[in-house]
Amino acid sequence: MGEGAGDEGNPIMTTHINIDPNTVERYIMELAEHGAHGATGVWRPVYGDAWFAAQRQVETWMQEAGLETRWDAVGNVWGRVTGANDAGRGVILTGSHIDSQLPGGRYDGALGVITPILAVKELLARFGQPERTIEVVSFCEEESSRFPTAHHWGSRAVAGEISTEDLASVVSYDGEKIGEVMQAAGFDLDAIPAIKREDIDIFIELHIEQGPILEQAGIPTAVVTGITGIRHYHLTLRGRADHAGARPMDTRRDPMAAAAEIISTVINTAHRMGRPAVTTVGRMRVEPNGAAIVPEEVYFTIDARHPDPATRELLYARHEATIKEVCERRDIEYSWTLGAEQPPRISDPALVETFVAAATEQGLNHTTMPSGAVHDANRMAGFSRMVMLFVQSKDGRSHTPDEFTYPEHAAEGVALLAAGLQKLAYGDE
Ligand SMILES: [Zn+2]
Repeated sequence: MGEGAGDEGNPIMTTHINIDPNTVERYIMELAEHGAHGATGVWRPVYGDAWFAAQRQVETWMQEAGLETRWDAVGNVWGRVTGANDAGRGVILTGSHIDSQLPGGRYDGALGVITPILAVKELLARFGQPERTIEVVSFCEEESSRFPTAHHWGSRAVAGEISTEDLASVVSYDGEKIGEVMQAAGFDLDAIPAIKREDIDIFIELHIEQGPILEQAGIPTAVVTGITGIRHYHLTLRGRADHAGARPMDTRRDPMAAAAEIISTVINTAHRMGRPAVTTVGRMRVEPNGAAIVPEEVYFTIDARHPDPATRELLYARHEATIKEVCERRDIEYSWTLGAEQPPRISDPALVETFVAAATEQGLNHTTMPSGAVHDANRMAGFSRMVMLFVQSKDGRSHTPDEFTYPEHAAEGVALLAAGLQKLAYGDE
C-alpha cells in the first residue's frame, strides 16, 4: 500500500491494488466446471441446469464478498452494497453475463462477472462501506445462443424493453417460447416490468477483447472508448440466366460478376479506411446455382461496422455508391433491405478519463480502443453512463473453447476495475 501524488499538483490518494492471479484463475476454473464442454470449453445455455448452477455459484461468491444478493424475474443475479452517502447519486453497476456460445470459452462474459466480485470484495475488505452504492450483476442470455432473438434478454429487462408479446415471440432454436421456459423454471413473468431500473448512473462492463489488438501491442488491458455501430445490408442482384458456353462475355448480364466486384470493393474500402473500420461478406446464395449457368440472381450480406458515427456514415455511403455504380455499369437490377442496425455507443468521456487515470496510478500497462463487438453495455448505454474495460485475449480467439486469457492479465483487469471503482464509489468523482 502506498500513497502517490496526482498530476498537475492536485494530490490524489492512490492505493496500490494487488490481485493474486491464482485467485482469479481459481474462480475462472470453478465457474467453468458448470457446463464444462471438452477440455477447455463451456456449454451454458440460459435456463439450463449448468446455467442455474453457475448463477448460484455467482450468488454465493457475491455473498462471500459481502454483497446482498437477489434474483430478478428473468434470472439476472444481483449483488449490492448500499453507499453511506448515496442520496440522489445513482447506482454504480458493473457486470456481464455467464451464458455462453454453444460451445463457448471460459472467459467470454464470465470474466466480467468474476472480476467485479473480486474487485468489490477487495474494496470492501480494505476500505469498508463505500460512499456510493455499488451493484454487481450477472446478466442472463447475452449471447442469444438458445433464443436467437432474445437480444441481451437480461439487460433488455433492466432497460424496460421486454413486452408481453416478446414472451411468446422469442422462441428457442428448439421451438420453445421463452415465456414458457421461464415459467417452467419458476420465474414470475408478471414481475418482469419491475426489473426496469431508472436509478443506474454508471454501468461498467469488463470483457475479454475477443480480438488480437492488445496481444499484438503487448498490452494486457484497455479502457474502451466506444462500441462499434453495425449495419447489415441484405443485397439482391438480378441479371439474366444464360448458357455458360454459348453466351459471349460482352453480352451477359451476370449478377455474379457484379457481386464479385462489389464484394472485393467493399472489403477493400474498409481495409483502406483503416482500423477500426470493418466489412464482412459472410453469407451468399446463388440462383439457380449451376456450374454451367450464368446466374439469374445473387443474394449476399454486407456487415459493416465503425465506432465513430461520422466515419460509419462515410463507410456506408461508399458501400452504397459502389453497389449503384457497379450494378448500373453492368446492367444489373439491385435492391437491398437493412437487417441489424445498431448505432455506435460512445463511452462516457469522464469515465474513460477516470479509468485511464486509475490504470496510470496503478502502474498498469494499458491503452484505449473501441470495441468491435456488441455487449450488454450497448443496452445499458441507452439509459446510463457507460464504460467498458478490455483484457487481452490470447491469439485474439473468442466464441470457441480455445478462448484463453492469462490469469496475470485477468488479475490486472481486476486491479483496474477496483481502482476505478474506488475513485467512483469512495472518492468524490
Ligand atoms: Zn460476452
